[in-house]
Amino acid sequence: MSAFEATREFARSLDAADELRSFREQFNLPGEKGGLKNIYLCGNSLGLQPKLAVQYVHEELDDWGNLGVEGHFSARRPWMPYHRIATKGLAYLTGAQENEVLAMNTLTVNLHVLMTTFYRPDAKRNKIVIESTAFPSDRFAVMSQLRLHGFEPDDALIEWQPRDDDQLHIDDLVQILDDHAGEIALLLLPGVQYYNGQVLDMAQLCQLASDNGCAIGLDLAHAIGNVPLALHDWAPDFAAWCSYKYMNSGPGAIGGAFVHAKHLDADGTRQLLGWWGHEESTRFKMAPTFAPAKGVELWQLSNPPILSLAPVIASLEIFAAAGIDNLREKSLQLTGFLDFLLQEGFADRIGSLTPADARGCQMSLVVRDETLNARAIFESLEELNVTADWREPNVIRIAPVPLYNSFEDVYDFSKRLELAIERNEQK
Ligand SMILES: *Cc1c(COP(=O)(O)O)cnc(C)c1O
Repeated sequence: MSAFEATREFARSLDAADELRSFREQFNLPGEKGGLKNIYLCGNSLGLQPKLAVQYVHEELDDWGNLGVEGHFSARRPWMPYHRIATKGLAYLTGAQENEVLAMNTLTVNLHVLMTTFYRPDAKRNKIVIESTAFPSDRFAVMSQLRLHGFEPDDALIEWQPRDDDQLHIDDLVQILDDHAGEIALLLLPGVQYYNGQVLDMAQLCQLASDNGCAIGLDLAHAIGNVPLALHDWAPDFAAWCSYKYMNSGPGAIGGAFVHAKHLDADGTRQLLGWWGHEESTRFKMAPTFAPAKGVELWQLSNPPILSLAPVIASLEIFAAAGIDNLREKSLQLTGFLDFLLQEGFADRIGSLTPADARGCQMSLVVRDETLNARAIFESLEELNVTADWREPNVIRIAPVPLYNSFEDVYDFSKRLELAIERNEQK
């Protein structure tokens, strides 16, 4: 028996009881189209703009204009230690110690920077495991790392396949680790899989890696700001993420990296180096010798892009105020309501690749009714001012985000989906 009802009144009653509902006002929402308000369900691809981000970027532009180079020391948020303003909030969202996390680079760059340290193949142990549905950038990054070390992806790239139920099953990964005992150097796996929306048991993945003598890196692109994380305790060797999805930090925003404390007494001989990995107090002596920074800052190459980091800092303040556990609780309710409406209204026609017991904000809907054209339905949804995300061949990813989506948004989505299907049946 469900606690939900398929009515607008019911959706509104959930909104009225939602203690996080006022956070929506802190975001800029896309506008009306054809008299229909926008239903934004695409936070898994690009999070909406926090008004505070606009303010912070303007403040940095002003400080640059007014102060020039002096801004490094006398801006309202001095640029020299600017990246550290993000440390606390990142540690909070990832469940890390503050010396383990850093805002730097973009995601794919971070994967390379971190694989340079943590993919250390030898003649016997040199294979890398990814999921077969991995995001192309992760796959390409791994392929190139293999080749740069003299291995061929055809031999050394192992793919963990989902089963017929579209889910990744840990038992299959265990089998891969058994079949290739002693040969696997690195697991590079997602926290939340981008295509099917499945939340993986990250603690168990890390335990498996450690039991089998493999390094493990987690790609948290779809996990950070979506589900609570406990990286320090789970103890992957490294993790990386982007900040423009659930972290709402703007297109191409600066990403982030985690290196576990067990690797933080490093001397600088096993990573790419730049001047911002140099120990801070003597960095500006500009000497030709390298002194390693403490903590994950050793992996920092450049001075950070302030204009790209300002929205991250704004976003982290919002997450701290809302609380990731509160957001997770609301998110489960939002997807629960969505799932209920889909089953009530579309049971035989629209299914989901996303497991009900292991999902974050996203549900990956599949058009199961073969009389319907999935792409045409997606386009009708766009015409009806629903912002969702299309993935070949027949998947519509939608993600109600607890910071700015309401239960009424979810209800409206179900109504517009009904309309979109009707329009395509008439054709
Ligand atoms: C979004 C995403 C990326 C994007 O990489 P960028 O380097 O930020 O362009 C990579 N991998 C995964 C798994 C993603 O979800």
